[in-house]
Amino acid sequence: EDQIDFVKLSVMGDTDERPNETKAKTSFEGLQEDRKSLPIYSYRDKLLQDVSDNQVIILVGQTGSGKTTQLPQYLHEAGYTKKGMIACTQPRRVAAMSVAARVSQEMGVKVGHEVGYSIRFEDCTSEKTLIKYMTDGMLLREFLHEPDLASYSVIIVDEAHERTISTDVLLGLVKDEACHRKDLKLVISSATLDAKKFSTYFNSAPIIEIPGRAYPVDILYTKTPEVDYIDATIGTILQIHITEPVGDILVFLTGQEEIDAVHELLNYRTRSLGTKIRELVICPIYANLPTELQAKIFEPTPDGARKVVLATNIAETSLTIDGIKYVVDPGFCKIKSYNPHTKMESLLINPISKASANQRAGRSGRTGPGKCFRLYTYYDYDHDLEVNTVPEIQRTNLATVVLTLKSLGIHDLVNFDFMDPPPSEALLRALEQLFALNALNAKGELTKTGRRMAEFPLDPMLSKMVVASEKYNCSNEILSIAAMLSVGNSIFFRPKDKKVYADMARMKFGNEGDCITLLNVYDSWKETDFSTQWCYENYIQIRSMKRARDIRDQLEGLLKRVNIEIRSNNDLVAIKKAIMSGFFLHAAKLQKDGSYRTLKNPQTVYIHPTSGLVERRPRWVVYSELVLTTKEYIRQVTEVKPEWLVEIAPHYYDGLATMAMSHGQGKSAL
Ligand code: ADP
Ligand code: MG
Repeated sequence: EDQIDFVKLSVMGDTDERPNETKAKTSFEGLQEDRKSLPIYSYRDKLLQDVSDNQVIILVGQTGSGKTTQLPQYLHEAGYTKKGMIACTQPRRVAAMSVAARVSQEMGVKVGHEVGYSIRFEDCTSEKTLIKYMTDGMLLREFLHEPDLASYSVIIVDEAHERTISTDVLLGLVKDEACHRKDLKLVISSATLDAKKFSTYFNSAPIIEIPGRAYPVDILYTKTPEVDYIDATIGTILQIHITEPVGDILVFLTGQEEIDAVHELLNYRTRSLGTKIRELVICPIYANLPTELQAKIFEPTPDGARKVVLATNIAETSLTIDGIKYVVDPGFCKIKSYNPHTKMESLLINPISKASANQRAGRSGRTGPGKCFRLYTYYDYDHDLEVNTVPEIQRTNLATVVLTLKSLGIHDLVNFDFMDPPPSEALLRALEQLFALNALNAKGELTKTGRRMAEFPLDPMLSKMVVASEKYNCSNEILSIAAMLSVGNSIFFRPKDKKVYADMARMKFGNEGDCITLLNVYDSWKETDFSTQWCYENYIQIRSMKRARDIRDQLEGLLKRVNIEIRSNNDLVAIKKAIMSGFFLHAAKLQKDGSYRTLKNPQTVYIHPTSGLVERRPRWVVYSELVLTTKEYIRQVTEVKPEWLVEIAPHYYDGLATMAMSHGQGKSAL
């Protein structure tokens, strides 16, 4: 086997500190002991005093110091929950769920009772709930129905350094609300030392720092750049497993597909090594992973074995896994970003920032000295990585946020108190898009359609599709499609050794387009009375289907709230027109060479290989997602007719440049 050569170039962290190593406990008493051993514990009284003395505080502490799990409990113990709930927001769903589970354990209560969580399409709270972990996006949605946040006494905006778009908007809204509600307490919590900026934003709010306890971490770089980082990742994991002393490994990958691939390859390679090596327990962790499996990463490693956690960015700061001694960092993450040249947004695999690289490395030094294997050279680290990640608000599509703010009655977006304002061009583009979707009128005011759209926790294009289903009398079908699309690309199961069978099974669901295929899958499953056996036979993932059913139920409830009747219609043209009402901005036309060209801001794209339309290649399509891997791929593709474009969006395809009114020149753009 090829050995990967690493060079050790630096040591990170405080070399003097050598606290005792801790071991995971599970008994209630053990957990109480654990709580007391966290760095934040000695700051308990000071923190409570500071919260009592100030309306806003900025809390800074290294990952794992106990901010997320302990602070809400301290505040609860001090009586804040008598006046209202404590909200603690997280940028990631998995973090909200997992932390709620942990804190319930520590408090000896059931999740969903005193301690609960709320994430999109999943509300695990009750009348009893006092501490509520939730995604930042969910708290943002709660503003729609409770603008004064009356149910809450404290809002903790956790992981603020992540600067997700929802966090940024939330910061603006809670800052404003704090002026109206003097009794509302705010804690802005961050893992990085870049807290000055938060303090300045909150009118010089005091910064409270909790020193972490970091062991030294050796930083190793590859001698030469790696051509294939997946290969290099596998090689490095095995190299650590064979040559390094005990201790678990944490590997940072960009997404589920990569994690699954590495998981499979690792299984294969360890099997071929047989009993020559010790046991390697492989634990994946990513947002769509079923809850039961998510908990596995926290289980203690069996004696003599080594655990390897394959994680997305989630393990960078949101989750702390004890026992990690080695970090493998390929140096990439997947981010949504907007390409100003093509005027399109896509999910891209990007190099991480230096700040991220250092956070990642730090994960190996929590319970003892660690090692971080960077699969890139020092030169690349030094020259190619940005210092910090650009806040999401400055690089993504703002349509969802603009729609939310407009529904909150905030019209003057240019003067909204953003910590870092989005580029005005991006704001304008979002306004244009919402105007095209008929969510805003030409004056930029919310329309009835827009108000209805805002009720759905979906991307504006999807929510437009749902609202438009009323007109085409097919809300029943569109709800199923919207739910299936919301589950993500995890409906079909395609095991490597059974691809042919899986693809054959999939063909039974028609090739009218991917959305229609998804509808057919859902309807067929429903006809079998939601049979598990049926899913196995058809290479369909039962978990994803159950989730789709759950999402569908919730969307149905919201549909009733906006007074849209559930009507069924099996006319495919009507269904496709409803789909197109949401996705006409994503129309593309077939080219002679088999590629597609998008209509507005022409760009060459290709149908994704997993699409049912990849062979047939209809002349006109709309798509829901653009992903850049080796090429610009479009996903969830539906065949459409060009005449419908003019029928559905004449104002858009008339060559709308800004928010000017339509000139009525019907087919000029086609
Ligand atoms: P911070 O928010 O400062 O990064 P946390 O409060 O998340 O710190 O973590 C404190 C401790 O709680 C860590 O030692 C971590 O391992 C543990 N912990 C957090 N979540 C879980 C969980 N779901 N299961 C087991 N342990 C957890
Ligand atoms: Mg935390």
